[in-house]
Amino acid sequence: MAESDKKAQGNRSLKAARLAQIKPSPTVSLFGRVAELRGMGRDIVGLVAGEPDFDTPDNIKGAAIEAIQRGETKYTAVDGTPDLKRAIQAKFKRENGLDYGLDQISVGVGGKHVIFNALLATLSPGDEVVIPAPYWVSYPEMVTLCDGVPVIVSSDPARGFKLDPEKLEAAITPKTKWVILNSPTNPTGAAYTREELEQVTAVLLRYPNVMVLADDIYEHLIYDDFVFTTPAQIEPRLYDRTLTVNGVSKTYCMTGWRIGYAGGPKELIQAMASVQSHSTTNAASISQAAAVEALNGPQDFIAHNRAAFDRRRRMVVERLNAIDGLSCQMPEGAFYVYPSCEGVIGRRRPDGQVIETDQDYVLYLLEDAGVGSVFGGAFGMSPYFRLSYAASDDVLRDACDRIAQTTAKLR
Ligand code: GLU
Repeated sequence: MAESDKKAQGNRSLKAARLAQIKPSPTVSLFGRVAELRGMGRDIVGLVAGEPDFDTPDNIKGAAIEAIQRGETKYTAVDGTPDLKRAIQAKFKRENGLDYGLDQISVGVGGKHVIFNALLATLSPGDEVVIPAPYWVSYPEMVTLCDGVPVIVSSDPARGFKLDPEKLEAAITPKTKWVILNSPTNPTGAAYTREELEQVTAVLLRYPNVMVLADDIYEHLIYDDFVFTTPAQIEPRLYDRTLTVNGVSKTYCMTGWRIGYAGGPKELIQAMASVQSHSTTNAASISQAAAVEALNGPQDFIAHNRAAFDRRRRMVVERLNAIDGLSCQMPEGAFYVYPSCEGVIGRRRPDGQVIETDQDYVLYLLEDAGVGSVFGGAFGMSPYFRLSYAASDDVLRDACDRIAQTTAKLR
């Protein structure tokens, strides 16, 4: 082919090579599918999305309205207003005993964005990121998008889905850049006690070039007197290489406002701001004002919401365990249950189709029971499925009844 023809033809592939291995987020797309089915008039109980069913508290909404009225509707500093950074600084000190300077704090458009900035700012092609499974769907995909290599370490369900420190150590190589820890964990609700976390940090201490990403977004969703701790707090020798990520979405019922934040080493925070300055610039000014009120304002509703989640957690676990073919551990935190559906694999639907995978079962639940959930394969461990119990008691009761009836039809 002549050079000029080649030039005219150009690069015909629409998608970037790095997208070859990326699938759209299953949690986000299943959430969309539930909305679509409802739009078509179907009666669907959606337990897909990890978002509190409670409304954003009024004082937080009020702060946003006041910010608009004051004219705080312009660009802000890229990685957060001074007011919000001060509120985050005080939160880290008050709740986690962590001291971060204002130049060690980064605010982005949700926790997802903050993690993405950190990975984009630090991963070179081939760098490895250790991710315990079951994992939140977006960790490995974000690593791949940033040209890194996700290294998945399975956690044993018999250990309550918590990472075996020996397996963690075996997964670390000279190419390991990050280890991602998430407690309480999405999708299992597993939460690491201080002693369990210390076993993990003891391994990390031996590898001084490995950075630690602690995703603490479910920090306040803990039950049964569980005491939350975070790696940089319990192992100060990791402070200089830990990014402590959090956000207002889950605790303050603010998923749509999109405010996530992190505290970490200054050099990393600067690099993340540099990335962000070329993408979103700042998170929405109004959402930032609302987040200041969330962090500085009254906190009593958190305990109130927690009590409701706790009640729902117990009810859902009990009802799921009463269903032949399912078995569900009691999670320590977050608002998810991750039951095993091993007992239904191989059974036949009324239409003759065989349930071969957790994805088949989840599809059957959606079609037959009208219950939306997420299949375990999306989180890297099968055969399981995730249900979010961030829904009203009535909705959850109805969902469990539907799952029981539909599952009983399998032969
Ligand atoms: N993190 C939540 C979930 O897992 C929100 C959806 C998402 O961003 O994946 O459902």
